[in-house]
Amino acid sequence: MPFVAPDYRRIPAIHRLLDLPALRAAVDDYGHAPVMEACRIAVDQLRQRISAGEVSGPDIDAACEALGGEILDALRTGVASAYPAVINATGVLLHTNLGRAPLPRRLPPSLKSYLALEYDVSEGRRGQRLAAMADRIARVCGAASAVMVNNNAAALFLILKAHAEQREVVVSRGQLIEIGGSFRLPDVMEASGTKLVEVGCTNRTHLKDYAAAIGEHTAALLVAHQSNFRIVGFTTEPSIDELAGLAHDRSLPLIVDQGSGALHDLRRWGLPHEHTVSELLEAGADVVCFSGDKLLGGPQAGLVVGRSEWVEPLARHPLYRVLRPDKTALLTMEETLRAHHSGRLEEIPLYAMLETPIDALMGRARRLGRRLRERDVPVRGRETRAALGGGTTPEETLASYGLGLVGGQGLADRLRAVSPPVVARIEDDEVVLDLRTVFPDQDRSLEEALVAAYSGLNANHEAGA
Ligand SMILES: *Cc1c(COP(=O)(O)O)cnc(C)c1O
Repeated sequence: MPFVAPDYRRIPAIHRLLDLPALRAAVDDYGHAPVMEACRIAVDQLRQRISAGEVSGPDIDAACEALGGEILDALRTGVASAYPAVINATGVLLHTNLGRAPLPRRLPPSLKSYLALEYDVSEGRRGQRLAAMADRIARVCGAASAVMVNNNAAALFLILKAHAEQREVVVSRGQLIEIGGSFRLPDVMEASGTKLVEVGCTNRTHLKDYAAAIGEHTAALLVAHQSNFRIVGFTTEPSIDELAGLAHDRSLPLIVDQGSGALHDLRRWGLPHEHTVSELLEAGADVVCFSGDKLLGGPQAGLVVGRSEWVEPLARHPLYRVLRPDKTALLTMEETLRAHHSGRLEEIPLYAMLETPIDALMGRARRLGRRLRERDVPVRGRETRAALGGGTTPEETLASYGLGLVGGQGLADRLRAVSPPVVARIEDDEVVLDLRTVFPDQDRSLEEALVAAYSGLNANHEAGA
């Protein structure tokens, strides 16, 4: 056998790579060290592929030629956002993995400026960070008092810590919930130092069960909304009125973890009714907590509303400093509450999507479909079912409309690899793109993504992959 020089010798030296015009420009853009590092990694990877026999013969020269481009790609990915924007074509409006509610598109200018966060402008001295926000929340919810913290888990934790530490809280066995993302009611209660007293059965809990469980160590009754499941069939649960009556007879507060933050009657959008925050307060709940980024349609936050004697101490509790929201959440929440208060719900993306008539979705699907078929992507318009998601109304879906394209998992994977990535759903080997959760100004990007993903898929098939 003739002697063959080790093929690594054909890999260019790093200083030669750095002389390539494209990489010289990259040094200006990204700095010397990151470019060097990217070169080293790319060269090492090629070396490994050669030694594993994956690249050999004339392919090695081609691989060397491609190095510059690969290094540039790696640099671009490295500086890409850790949280890139995606097109949500899943039809799930509150998708917890995709950031739940998208924020109002018009954001306040003070986000990028100094702002009177804890400053009383008229007096020229230190002010209260929370006071202005608390007023706005209370007004929108029709409550006497309000507090805002980081998320709803923090809200419930703070309520329990402040009012029930080392005491007992009574909860129905039908409500010991786990919400995705590691929120388990019994665990939050334990972490807060509260003793959980379970009453009733999974499907049936009676008022007398609660009454029998109240003793000298009881601090409160707690109702947790069954956000992401339903118990159906032979079931019963006392009403909020009845529970409030019992709690107040025993001088206890009734705490409700409402979860979703429904402020409006969901029947307006063809969804089943869920107790709104103000209905719960009217029915006698003393403290109600809920998320800011579910049906409220705002930033991640936990809001607590209710009677002053139970809510005000939360803002004075030492833990409040640990759980308080930052200025970005306060400002985006203010914008969100403004839209709720003025009734201009369409300014909140979640409600704009909920309110989009099916005809508008069909029109967009028709236009997109026509353009795509002209570009040899055989999509068809199809009916779909969208869902609220985020642990709200788990069984209900909304009539929606979108596009379908045969291609299965391979196509869905390719759609996630384009920029911006498109997240779709698969039903019977068809990739389904629900337009209800795609903003109309993303239709063009969706079209480009489909063309790129579909033509890539076919090129692969033709190459026999
Ligand atoms: C969503 C939810 C939570 C958790 O809220 P986060 O804002 O995600 O912390 C707690 N309780 C209920 C009932 C929920 O629906």
